Amino acid sequence: MQVQYCLQKQTRRHLPERQTNESISELGRDQQLCCIDCGNVITAVQFAIEHLGKQRHFVQNAAGEQYHIALYEQAFGCGIAGVPTTDFTWFPPHSWRFAYCRRCRLQLGWQFSGRKPFFALIERLLKACDE
Ligand SMILES: [Zn+2]
Repeated sequence: MQVQYCLQKQTRRHLPERQTNESISELGRDQQLCCIDCGNVITAVQFAIEHLGKQRHFVQNAAGEQYHIALYEQAFGCGIAGVPTTDFTWFPPHSWRFAYCRRCRLQLGWQFSGRKPFFALIERLLKACDE
């Protein structure tokens, strides 16, 4: 297994991938993904993208909290908050802001800005919309 450390800070880092039951690779390309709390449509499988060679990443923030995140080039159901910063970024040189559900305001992940912007959404907070 491969550990990808953030270049500047070892506290905020990529962790070895873990097997989880749910994977978007089992879902159809047109499948929409919804907020687990309120059912708002957030994104769809067709918007999944890879960065650093993977669509799903296992990461840890500076506070030691760990997340399974998945990357999407668009997430229409998300609002964005905060001032872009590169502090502790998981994807240098991209800066990040908070991404939240437009309907219920639950924080769903982060939006990364750079040459190619994308969303990193916490996998356990999204579900297939028809579940
Ligand atoms: Zn919601």
